[in-house]
This record gives sequence, structure tokens and C-alpha cells, in this order.
Amino acid sequence: MVAMRACKALREDGGRCQSPPLLDGDFCLMHSPEHAEEMAEARRLGGLRRRREKAVSGAYAFEGLADVGQVRRLLEVAALDTLSLENSVARSRTLAYLAQVALKALEVGELAERIEALERLVAPRLEKAGKRR
Ligand SMILES: [Zn+2]
Repeated sequence: MVAMRACKALREDGGRCQSPPLLDGDFCLMHSPEHAEEMAEARRLGGLRRRREKAVSGAYAFEGLADVGQVRRLLEVAALDTLSLENSVARSRTLAYLAQVALKALEVGELAERIEALERLVAPRLEKAGKRR
């Protein structure tokens, strides 16, 4: 059996880094002194990327994909971008696909609202029934 090697670096919290070391060294890619420059560049690009993400999400009023409203916003942006393209079969296909996905999102949103309404109706009755027992 091959012994599991681990990176020799210490993390900020004092614990050992658990990442596997590079084949030709004692450290993982993150901690390897030979790759420090590359990692600094990667961190810089990561920072740029986050700033760009913030700017783009602000410009499109797009906040993520965490709920039906946010998904609908993405579909709106995609539909507007697609509509502004020159007419083509691919554009029509994309719009038809977006419409299909949007209908599904609307359906899911409507079902969620109806379930919430039902829960609001049922909750007080369940509470009463619980007290009677
Ligand atoms: Zn490491």
C-alpha cells in the first residue's frame, strides 16, 4: 500500500494542510514555494473575476439562481439578448427553448405560492387540533 503523503505547510489556524503534495515536492500547489508566483496571479485573477461578476450582476439586476424570481430574471435577460440578435433559425429555436423553460419556472413559482397559501390556511387548524389532544 502507498502511504498517503500530505502537504508539509501549516494552515492559518495552525493545523496541517491536508492537501496532497505535488509529485516532486513536499508541498501542495497552494503552498509550493516554486509555484508562489502562479498562485499569486491566480488570486489576482480571482479578485478581478469577483469584481467583474459584481459589475455584471449589477448591470443586469441579476442576483443569482436561488429562487424562482431570480431564475426568471436570468431568463428575461437571455430573452432580451436573444431578441436583439439578427433573425435566424437558431434565434427562433433559442427563444422557443427560453419560453419553454420560462413556462416551467412560472409553473414552479405558482405551485410554491399555492402551497404557501394552503399552509397558511391549514396551520391554525393544526395548532387547534394539537391543543385539543
Ligand atoms: Zn498545502
